[in-house]
Amino acid sequence: MSSQDTHQDERFDLLIIGAGAAGLTAGIYAGRAGLNTVIVDATGAGGQTGVASTIMNYPGFKLIQGYELAMRFREHAEEYAPIVEGKTIETITPVENMGTMHFRVRTADGDEFLCGGVILATGAGHRKLGVPGEEEFEGKGVSYCATCDGYFFRNKKVYMIGGGNTALMEGLYLRDAGVDVTIVHRRDRFRGDEIYHRQVEERGIPVLWNTVLEEVRGDALVDSVVLKDLKTGTVREMEANGVFIAVGINPNNTLAKDLGCTLDGGGFVVTDRKQRTNIPYIYAAGDLTGGLQQIIVAGAEGALAAMTAHEDLTNPYWVPPKTL
Ligand code: NAP
Repeated sequence: MSSQDTHQDERFDLLIIGAGAAGLTAGIYAGRAGLNTVIVDATGAGGQTGVASTIMNYPGFKLIQGYELAMRFREHAEEYAPIVEGKTIETITPVENMGTMHFRVRTADGDEFLCGGVILATGAGHRKLGVPGEEEFEGKGVSYCATCDGYFFRNKKVYMIGGGNTALMEGLYLRDAGVDVTIVHRRDRFRGDEIYHRQVEERGIPVLWNTVLEEVRGDALVDSVVLKDLKTGTVREMEANGVFIAVGINPNNTLAKDLGCTLDGGGFVVTDRKQRTNIPYIYAAGDLTGGLQQIIVAGAEGALAAMTAHEDLTNPYWVPPKTL
């Protein structure tokens, strides 16, 4: 569905915000359950899955590129729910006395959706380090996505900051893409999975342990990084063409906050075991809810959220009739 289309005259049972693994799976389940469902994404479908490099732990696929898996999700979801891309949701307003309609959802371009329930599947974004030069050189040598930008650094020197799965996987991706990559981690052991530690070792990727990035320097583009060894206190300026930063994620929780959803200490949306938030008819799924950030978990939460919405919005046979 084109972002030019308007939706003022349409009534949806369920609106899903975010077309990543959680939102697309929710769309499949909701559509199949008979809910008139629409999925809206501010950019394009795919979410974090779409920019992941190689995926080796999604059952049924020993190895698949993130983009390919995401496009399979997208194609599958489109069988059951239209996907509106390029529309940013700005407000979700509860509406009373409109029969089954519970929310008026407005987009930045003035479009409007009316729906009975909303699944928030807005995911999470890259956490920033907040060091001098990071913001200034973003897109000029500082990147948060090796799959997106790695190609530009072929035969060049880059530093990958972080010790989680993303840093390790993206470090491996860069090495395979012909980039001269060194991993910089603040501790003396990785947080990411053992399988990636081994691969980092086997591929001979250098690791600077107990080291942090203090500054990114350059002129028009990145020229160097300032690194500090936390054990010795030594500060060194090293030549570099690029810096990849993978130090965790922050939930995209603006809409959830505006709605009054309960958040945990990390800003992730708190849900019950069936993905209900504290706001009736508002559900949350995927990276937005924290926990184990895996495609399969996001998908499972999306499925659960859709089935719970179905349960709340209709009266399926397995729910005892409501007493007045
Ligand atoms: P993460 O697992 O939270 O790791 C973040 C890394 O950045 C940690 O090593 C952390 O160091 C480091 N870090 C955080 N703040 C820092 C700072 N201020 N300065 C220096 N280093 C800092 O985040 P992620 O790697 O982005 O992964 C996010 C989630 O997605 C995780 O649950 C991960 O397992 C999952 N994921 C899974 C896969 C997979 O299974 N294939 C792939 C990608 C991501 P410490 O270790 O010292 O805390």
